[in-house]
Amino acid sequence: QAKRHDTGGYAVFAGSMHDSAVKALELQTDLRNALARDEFVLHYQPICDTVTARIRGVEALVRWQHPTRGLVPPGAFIGAAEETGLIRELGRWVLHEACRQMRAWRDRFPETDLRLSVNTSGEELKDPRFVDGVRDLLADTGLDPRVLQLEVTEAIFLQDPEYIAGILDGLRALGVRIALDDFGTGYSSLSYLDRYRLDTIKIDRSFVTRMLTQRRTWEIVTAIVKLGQALDLDIVAEGVEDETQRQAIRATGCGFVQGYLLGRPASAADFARTLEASDEATQTRPRE
Ligand code: C2E
Ligand code: MG
Ligand code: MG
Ligand code: MG
Repeated sequence: QAKRHDTGGYAVFAGSMHDSAVKALELQTDLRNALARDEFVLHYQPICDTVTARIRGVEALVRWQHPTRGLVPPGAFIGAAEETGLIRELGRWVLHEACRQMRAWRDRFPETDLRLSVNTSGEELKDPRFVDGVRDLLADTGLDPRVLQLEVTEAIFLQDPEYIAGILDGLRALGVRIALDDFGTGYSSLSYLDRYRLDTIKIDRSFVTRMLTQRRTWEIVTAIVKLGQALDLDIVAEGVEDETQRQAIRATGCGFVQGYLLGRPASAADFARTLEASDEATQTRPRE
């Protein structure tokens, strides 16, 4: 609660504090209603083989189909959802919807052998029932656990390393893979790679953007790729926007690329059309 003071300036400050508190409360109410009204949608972005450009996986990215504001990007509401605890319910919805969709795609396009990546916030991992929830959800949707990869960021390791290690081990025991998202932007510490069993590193877009103009960045990306290879990790370069960047990434030996060059995040229907095209292209002979 704000304390009363007699300074003139404070009234203005208190006023803006009040405004932002009201806005936060409104957002919280809106998000709760949005969940109840089923206003969230998932878009899907391909993750491709660097050399062949074949689609090997897909990342689910949440959007809010707002009745008046249109399609709202996650940057505008994930933070608020985390602060209010609503992220757990939203995360469950995202995971369920993504797994359901992937099961349908794998049945329809068996040749593509796609993997599914879903972003997971630290708040979700802190839920003591998280691992059980993922197990039930996989059973419900009938998705092979090895198809699912959860993307986490370095921030999750800051709070309670032992607890997080337990959660990640629990997930990997189910067969679920773990990817370290936005690698290099957080409190990157090699001890994370030493201490936690990971499957994938995603090199943050900012490195991909800078590597063509800064020699240092190029060297860092090359070193991350080498380290990842030595540790038997899959490596994905994020935010590849043009062919020059893809060539540069390819030269480092990084196995996978994601970015606007390969495909922008698209609705499930649009992504299915992309899969259809690539499925046909990879069929060497007609199925009987
Ligand atoms: P992220 O997981 O690192 O996802 C990649 C972001 O980069 C996406 O933004 C994607 O649209 C964007 N992107 C992909 N390729 C390119 C490119 O070539 N150039 C540029 N400029 N951008 C590119 P988006 O969809 O706005 O998501 C932002 C962040 O929101 C995600 O970053 C992730 O941290 C978070 N997020 C998204 N969906 C979820 C979710 O379901 N749950 C949670 N907890 N977080 C989510
Ligand atoms: Mg991600
Ligand atoms: Mg990322
Ligand atoms: Mg990011």
